Amino acid sequence: PTSSHLVGLIGTGVGPSLTPAMHMAEGRAHGLDYVYRTIDLARLSLAPERVGEVLTWARMLGFDAVNVTHPCKQLVIEHLDAIDPVAADLGAVNTVLFTEAGAVGHNTDTTGFAHGFTEGLPDARLDHVVLVGAGGAGTAVADALLRLGCTHLTVVDLDVDRASAVARELVGRHPLAQVDASSFDKLSILLPHSDGVVHATPTGMAAHPGVAFDPALLHSDLWVADIVYRPLDTALLAAARAAGCRTLDGGHMAVHQAVDAFALITGLTPDADRMSQHFRRL
Ligand code: NAD
Repeated sequence: PTSSHLVGLIGTGVGPSLTPAMHMAEGRAHGLDYVYRTIDLARLSLAPERVGEVLTWARMLGFDAVNVTHPCKQLVIEHLDAIDPVAADLGAVNTVLFTEAGAVGHNTDTTGFAHGFTEGLPDARLDHVVLVGAGGAGTAVADALLRLGCTHLTVVDLDVDRASAVARELVGRHPLAQVDASSFDKLSILLPHSDGVVHATPTGMAAHPGVAFDPALLHSDLWVADIVYRPLDTALLAAARAAGCRTLDGGHMAVHQAVDAFALITGLTPDADRMSQHFRRL
């Protein structure tokens, strides 16, 4: 690895992202000249479909790597020269390295959720897990849970067709696991017998306050993970603590996607605790 790095974040509305600060502080701690800049497609008046051109420009302008976020994680794939198998399975890429072999895609959302989960809820039972929210982030979480050894995953979404489609894809990728889809009104039947629940809808963010499902369904044998991280302490996590549940906040995934990306970009081992402490002060 060279000691100077130029990294970007391509997406729409990426201005407020905390990821640049996380990467640059960790770079400084390793004595690197590490510059991480946002490339906001909205501010540049570029349609998301032009992500391939942006990738080419970034490479020509000397970037070593880019993170890619909403709404380009799928769109970017056709512009890559190679893709890591985990990202290929998922059909979503959030990290692109510019190497001698060309643009190589990875997905550190899914590895980041897995590492954050192992860190924050070690020994959590994964026999039956309920995932609430089957969007892009929820799908990355689902794959991570199944790689971690979840044997039965139930996918719930307001859009039941979407939950079913995601469950079918997951079965294809993880044939040994039981994956099914269900609707919100079945949570009262599912949660009493589950080991844990992961929340992956936007509910609980400042713009979408509240809890996605009835918190009265939480019980002390359940672990509860929220991937919303703005705020870190959501109404769901407060209700889960009150019910006696073990909890995991969305900061673990947010930090570990950056930890894993930093490792891929630099070839160095970042200090995950240091990055987490820094993130939680931002
Ligand atoms: P998305 O829009 O792709 O998917 C959201 C899904 O939730 C959709 O399928 C939608 O039908 C469902 N949904 C929406 N409102 C709902 C409600 N009230 N009840 C039930 N289901 C509902 O979004 P996404 O990209 O998957 O992101 C979801 C959230 O995950 C984001 O808002 C963000 O807070 C969080 N996120 C966290 C991290 C992290 O690193 N911690 C990373 C990515 C996303």
